[in-house]
Amino acid sequence: MNENLEPAKNSSHTDEYVYILGNNIYINLTNKCTNKCDFCVRGAGVEDWYLNGANLWLSQEPTANDVIEALQKNNFKRYDSVVFCGYGEPLIRLETCIGIAKWLKKNGAKSVRVNTNGQANLIHNRDVSAELVGLFDCISISLNASNSADYQAVCHCCYGEVGFDSMLNFAQKCVDKGLRVVMSVVDILPKDEIIKCGEIVLKIGAEFKVRELIK
Ligand code: SF4
Repeated sequence: MNENLEPAKNSSHTDEYVYILGNNIYINLTNKCTNKCDFCVRGAGVEDWYLNGANLWLSQEPTANDVIEALQKNNFKRYDSVVFCGYGEPLIRLETCIGIAKWLKKNGAKSVRVNTNGQANLIHNRDVSAELVGLFDCISISLNASNSADYQAVCHCCYGEVGFDSMLNFAQKCVDKGLRVVMSVVDILPKDEIIKCGEIVLKIGAEFKVRELIK
């Protein structure tokens, strides 16, 4: 396992497998990631791992059953979307993600989304896009930059600059399979960079979103 996959610190905290933001309920499946983005709290102090009162530092990763239990306890059906998004890359735990998404689809979730860095094909060394069809209503990918060098300078992918190209390829494969793909950048990027990112997304056939940076 590459060292980038490990979060920056160790400490014991209360596990938070799901958390609520607005009208959505979020699943915090792992704190591991193949990136080390400059703006990510994974590299920050323990006190910064709180989001809307929820402590997202996992003392251990939840099983699918742990997550399902937490979803039921929190009445997941009343939320607009169930979103896989912790401080970490959910598709590192592809099998668990798919298992939970299947359960959600059978049990009345209104919408299921995964927020991802788009490196799943690199992580699993195969094209996994077909495995997501019918389970996810939206694949939300953080684009972050318009080229591999800038992406690597900000995101520090453990695979190097190939991480950016693989992410674009993953997005294309998902679009080609009919999945709804939204690719996003944060609003702190220079305007001309945002325009370039929009052009890339348009070429792929995905939707483009400029999102507010969460601090
Ligand atoms: S891809 Fe997401 S979870 Fe991973 S380091 Fe970047 S912001 Fe953090």
